[in-house]
Amino acid sequence: MCEQMLSPTAIDNNDAQPVAIAWSEQDAPARQATLTRILIRIAKEALQEGSVDSIMKGICNCLVQELPVSIASVLLLNEDKTEFVHEVYSGSFTQSPLALTGRWPITVGAIGRCATLGQPHLVRDTATDPDYVPGNSITRSEYMVPVRHGHSLHGVLNLESGRTDFFDEESCAVFNAVADLVAGALHFARMADQLTVLNHQLLQLSMRDPLTGLANRRLFDVRLLEVWGRQMREGAPLALLMADADYFKALNDTAGHLRGDECLRRLACVCEPFAVEANDLVARYGGEEFVLLLPGRTVEQAILTAEMLREAVVKEALEHPASPQSSHVTVSIGVAVLTPSDAIKPEQLVAAADKAMYAAKSNGRNQVAYCAEPSPLAQMAKA
Ligand code: GH3
Ligand code: MG
Ligand code: MG
Repeated sequence: MCEQMLSPTAIDNNDAQPVAIAWSEQDAPARQATLTRILIRIAKEALQEGSVDSIMKGICNCLVQELPVSIASVLLLNEDKTEFVHEVYSGSFTQSPLALTGRWPITVGAIGRCATLGQPHLVRDTATDPDYVPGNSITRSEYMVPVRHGHSLHGVLNLESGRTDFFDEESCAVFNAVADLVAGALHFARMADQLTVLNHQLLQLSMRDPLTGLANRRLFDVRLLEVWGRQMREGAPLALLMADADYFKALNDTAGHLRGDECLRRLACVCEPFAVEANDLVARYGGEEFVLLLPGRTVEQAILTAEMLREAVVKEALEHPASPQSSHVTVSIGVAVLTPSDAIKPEQLVAAADKAMYAAKSNGRNQVAYCAEPSPLAQMAKA
């Protein structure tokens, strides 16, 4: 009743339909040829790109479609190797304990026994195995192989057949090889997943300033280009504030670099709340320089924000034992506001804020200065 159809003829690709000849009608060489052909097809499946589940599913489908296998499944273990937590299967499953409970302790069932012993395991007659957990009523025999890559046990390949004579030496040898292919595919898919996660983390790290946790210059440059393009499309202004700590070298020289570092962290905390809109960005631009990118602000709004920031720094009252200006740390802030267009470049906004910041310095520090014009490109090249 569960006799599966299969063909001893070769197929070139997964879409080709084999000419069906029952397993029972094949002689030994034909069966051998069928097993070899299936192994080749599964090797191809294992090398496909895709998610772990889609690869496992492709392998299970192939086994069920072409052999007298009523259920083919891969059960995956958790990190601690104490429970099966995921199953991919093909075939006529009428009940799956894992599907019902979501977890299956490794101590339970013939599959658990296989994982615990770490050896391929044949149940010739499921009716006589008290540990067998029925997946459907047609299963008569079951073959299980640990899915292992190196020393790492990933799970178990489980095959069930409606025949009691299907799992012979030859077919079992093929299934052992299939389990190795499954293990290899799993290993590489998981490595690829890990690599994706690590790459993402690395990208995040490369965009953050380790001292303050703020966006760094790299992220600022990326976001400046993005926001510049958006503001240009909308014909809306873009404000940039550049705040530079006054006499910071003197602070380092008298109080030490660690105090200097702590001061930079505190300044970052003062700057951060000034990013209030979704696309605002506060970044550490360089040593003791912070930038605030504020899309959509008018000149008046940008100058007001800069003044509030300057006052917030004064209010923070960070001790400065060597400033000719004040007993506390102060900042000089340059403000520039441009409406992006094809005629100007984002660098000109940065240069204008920088120029304004130096004007604030030369006017006596601890103040805000505004630069009304985009810095000419020629002047920037000279600087
Ligand atoms: P001005 O008021 O003109 O801005 O003077 P200044 O002393 O702040 O400027 P200057 O450019 O002469 O010195 C900046 C100092 O910032 C020198 C440098 O050692 C210090 N600095 C840069 N990055 C860091 C850092 O990560 N930690 C510490 N502690 N100091 C830093
Ligand atoms: Mg400075
Ligand atoms: Mg500086």
